[in-house]
Amino acid sequence: MSVVFVTGASGQDGTLLIRNLLDEGHDVHALVRESAPDAADLISVHRGDIRDAALIGRLLRELRPDEVYHLAGQTSVAASWDDPVGTLETTALPAARLLEAAAEVGSRFVLAASAEIFGNAAAPQDEQTPIRPSSPYGAAKALAHHLVGVYRARGVHASSCILFNHESPLRPDRFVTRKITRGAARITLGLDDRLVLGNLDARRDWGWAPDYVRALQLAVRHPEPGDWVIGTGETHTVREFADAAFAAAGLGSADEYLVADDAFVRPADPAELRADASKARAELGWAPTVGFSELVERMVLADLEQQSR
Ligand code: GDP
Repeated sequence: MSVVFVTGASGQDGTLLIRNLLDEGHDVHALVRESAPDAADLISVHRGDIRDAALIGRLLRELRPDEVYHLAGQTSVAASWDDPVGTLETTALPAARLLEAAAEVGSRFVLAASAEIFGNAAAPQDEQTPIRPSSPYGAAKALAHHLVGVYRARGVHASSCILFNHESPLRPDRFVTRKITRGAARITLGLDDRLVLGNLDARRDWGWAPDYVRALQLAVRHPEPGDWVIGTGETHTVREFADAAFAAAGLGSADEYLVADDAFVRPADPAELRADASKARAELGWAPTVGFSELVERMVLADLEQQSR
């Protein structure tokens, strides 16, 4: 049994990760600000703010975790444009404090980094792709990612998984995938009659979130720390996602229901994020287990069930 410390426990990935860690029988500690995480009764919940550097140091010295999973941060690229400074405070700086504390107590550390650190780099992106973000969120994750490299060079077992978009029925609907699957479910059930979206031509490499959480665990337990790009290698446009979702919901073409609104268009959108995860495949033995259509179907089915309640 290991002692494990998780930040960002209430989000999609944190929820999935904690389920895995509990299944494996670990002593799980989570730093939580407000909303109670899933399985709160089975883990040790520490109330506090990820920006509280003193608290982070104190917790790690007290718990001396074997593994630290750093998932916390502002998760929405769109929202990072409304609050760039707050994004840096929650998404960049806490990594410095956690890594410093991990170095002090000898914890292994893994960061959930993001494909947004690559900005407009030509696809596909891998570990050698220059880091040149194009959003405040991407810049914040890039700083955290660089700090992992800095501490790794000092001998800390610190890794960074550069996660491409990963989705599940636990995704909040401020993300386009869940917004679409929830919208399609509501239209099927007669609860809505249209779905308002932004840039329909944006392309993403969308994978199944539980696969990405597994990558974090493989990374932290790999003998050598490192950086790994995690994604499927396949991209689809927002329009293709919508078409697949509306078909899965039994609605036919999405065109009839989609309304474009500039309010949802980003000031800058990365051109094409597409992962080359060969290194993770070779070194971690990681591969995605759920493809695009299956992912869309699973999300639509979950939303049909939820919305009919
Ligand atoms: P992100 O890649 O982490 O920003 O994940 P999102 O799911 O928020 O956005 C994925 C892509 O969908 C981006 O390129 C958005 O510009 C595009 N998009 C198009 N319409 C919408 C919308 O209505 N909401 C959101 N969140 N994204 C949209």
